[in-house]
Amino acid sequence: MSAGLDFSGKRVLVVGGAHAARRVLARYLAAGATVYHLAGPGPHSPAVRPAPGVHTPVFPRSVGAWDALIAAVDLVAVVETTPPTDAVIAAACGRHRTWLSRETAASTAPIGSVTLVGGGPGLESLLTVGALAALNAADIVYYDRLGPTDRLDVWAPGAEQIDVGKAPGHHAIPQRDAERMMVASALAGLTVVRLKGGDPFVFGRGGEEVIACRAAGVPVTVISGVTSAIAVPAAAGIPVTHREITRMFTVISGHAPISDTELTHLVGLGGTIVVLMGIGTLQQLVAGLTRLGMRTDMPVAIVERGFAHDQRTTLGRLDSIAALAAHAGVRSPAVVVIGDVVALAAHGDDTAADLLREAATLAT
Ligand code: SAH
Repeated sequence: MSAGLDFSGKRVLVVGGAHAARRVLARYLAAGATVYHLAGPGPHSPAVRPAPGVHTPVFPRSVGAWDALIAAVDLVAVVETTPPTDAVIAAACGRHRTWLSRETAASTAPIGSVTLVGGGPGLESLLTVGALAALNAADIVYYDRLGPTDRLDVWAPGAEQIDVGKAPGHHAIPQRDAERMMVASALAGLTVVRLKGGDPFVFGRGGEEVIACRAAGVPVTVISGVTSAIAVPAAAGIPVTHREITRMFTVISGHAPISDTELTHLVGLGGTIVVLMGIGTLQQLVAGLTRLGMRTDMPVAIVERGFAHDQRTTLGRLDSIAALAAHAGVRSPAVVVIGDVVALAAHGDDTAADLLREAATLAT
């Protein structure tokens, strides 16, 4: 079934065991259909309760009973059945001109899996083909506010969506609990996606999640994503490297203050410095870099909410950026870029130039 179909007002009969049919059931429910489920000739096992909102008619025992059921629905989705029943269903669909769709069974492996998906910096077009494929196959998606989520319903049709994010001011689910939830879902046989902002291994705690899965014996894979450390500066027209300006860039986390030793090395390297999670410690960083010898006229940019409709760039120098940021009320999420490449912002590609012009209007 392709994503985004509208089945409201349509009646869909799904045939197949509860485990194998769970994704198909979830998808048609998500598409707005009235869903009927035939799990098999036996009674519904109490261990596999029917999904909420799914009707469970009596299993037809005769061709006549199949005819009555199939005449009453718009589509029959067969996930798994025995050959004789399959033939009865196909014939009844033919007689009543009811659509027949053969669907893929969800994995019947006793253990599911976890895929850590790098979702990029928030723009749908920066999701990778691999990310979309993993989302499409997911039974359950754990996401947070940094990953792209606008169209999660379409990318992961029928998947349960769980917010484990840390929206400012809201209680975040602690990392260990999020890991436990993911592992539990996988052990219950589900195909789990952990959708993360940017790249899972760039300050995303992806490494810890991989270790948690491995410790529990859950198969885990990682799909790299486009990191905000490169894409967000680019959205403001800033290339993190540029021939004859710099041949290196260092990505640092400003989550905790940076030590003088680290700052000395950074100044000594002379390359571009990209700071994530750096708004809270901006003043300390700028003061430290100045104290340890960085040029005070070094260009600095702060790009807030990269790729969002209200993306904003604040441009300054090492000696002015702290005051400018305070004046502008700069907030997280933002990427700070320190280095001569910042001077190239105005020469960015056309999209970046447009965004920068918009940002300039917003800032005034
Ligand atoms: N794994 C992520 C980074 C997680 S740390 C990645 O590779 O991009 C979270 C920080 O990333 C934020 O505090 C902010 O500094 C940065 N960030 C992520 N998305 C952003 C966006 N759309 N705009 C600005 N900054 C962003």
